[in-house]
Amino acid sequence: NSRVVIVGAGHAGGSAAAFLRQYGHVGPIVLIGDEPLLPYQRPPLSKAWLKGEADADSLQLKPSAWYEEAGVSLRLGGVAVSINRGAKTVTLASGEVIAYDYLILATGARARALPLPGADLAGVLALRTAADAEALKGALGPGKRLAVVGGGYVGLEAAASAMALGGHATILEREPRVLARVACETLSTFFQDYHGARGVTFVLDAKVAGFDGQDGHVTGVRLTDGSVIACDVALVGVGAIPNEELARDAGLDCTNGVVVDLEARTADPFVFAIGDLTHRPLPTYERQFRLESVPNALEQAKQAAAAIAGRPMPPHEIPWFWSDQYDLKLQIAGLPFDADRQVVRGDVAAARFAVFHLKGDLVQAVEAVNAPPEFMAGKQLIARRTPVDIARLMDPAISMKDVAA
Ligand code: FAD
Repeated sequence: NSRVVIVGAGHAGGSAAAFLRQYGHVGPIVLIGDEPLLPYQRPPLSKAWLKGEADADSLQLKPSAWYEEAGVSLRLGGVAVSINRGAKTVTLASGEVIAYDYLILATGARARALPLPGADLAGVLALRTAADAEALKGALGPGKRLAVVGGGYVGLEAAASAMALGGHATILEREPRVLARVACETLSTFFQDYHGARGVTFVLDAKVAGFDGQDGHVTGVRLTDGSVIACDVALVGVGAIPNEELARDAGLDCTNGVVVDLEARTADPFVFAIGDLTHRPLPTYERQFRLESVPNALEQAKQAAAAIAGRPMPPHEIPWFWSDQYDLKLQIAGLPFDADRQVVRGDVAAARFAVFHLKGDLVQAVEAVNAPPEFMAGKQLIARRTPVDIARLMDPAISMKDVAA
């Protein structure tokens, strides 16, 4: 009958409320979220939403009636400003003090800002929330020029959406290749070529100096060499940083995210942290890491809910992620830690292939483009930690099912 307070009504927080009820927790649940919306999915914000292919209802994790039926008390528009772990209370900006038996922190991450001249001009946007996506959507369309600072997944997806709407996109990337932090070189080259063939312009090794504007609105992105990329709207997509201040101020251990264990529990047995916010153990790789993905938010939501509801811990999952651009479905499983070899299976030119990352003969990660069997079997191979026959893995005549058997 314990009272659970969840701070952050995003993918992780909203899912934790649902899993608590699913696992039989009967005590009160309070869900606090600073956005004015019910918990919603962010992945469509850079994809279907920008292209006008999704409505607000389709983004919601649960319909509004569910919260009432499930007895989840909502504080939307509520900002948690402090936690008193001794008294077991959370204080909101409104002054309301809410008591908890268990606290789940799910404050996610925020878009990293670029503190450069002109960054405050109208039309210099970020993409993290539904409100951000709505602002960007309004600026895209036929003939509209989008400049994206940062060649990560969100930036590439937004560029693909801008092109689909009849506009033009330029991607400015600081590194010599896009996706440098998150994908292998084969994938970077493939995505750049695929976007390039559809009209996207790339400026690599780009050093952004600031944003030019006229009448308070952005007109271009200025590079340190003096060149200017003219645009109608600029998207800053340079990563996200965890919203960990609340936890840190409450004395919880933070190292690029709130440090949690395999049950998503912090060092305080009554406080859990889940989702993009956390620095979590990855048992397969014997290290701690901060993940930013929906599967991770769901896995940790289940862990915290199971621990609170007194249920057995759900089995550990291999981290995975997806990205959709044009007609490409990228699926990534695992992380290429300590990998010493890459093996490509399939046909890169035909946009159907997978890159396997191996450490010796163990699969550490797989990046699969339009190749669901490679992704599925790769995920199994990563989980199993048994050697794989590399010659068979590279032989497209042998099905992935047989390779993984
Ligand atoms: P969030 O969803 O960020 O939710 C945290 C919530 O807490 C927010 O509403 C925040 O405003 C609120 N909050 C913060 N501080 C407070 C406070 N003090 N008081 C109250 N509320 C607070 N992942 C994939 O796996 N595949 C994809 O294709 C993919 N695409 C993405 C596209 C975009 C544009 C973005 C932005 C993300 C994408 N992701 C994708 C990542 C995925 O959406 C995140 O991993 C996921 O949303 C994390 O959930 P979360 O609940 O931890 O954080």
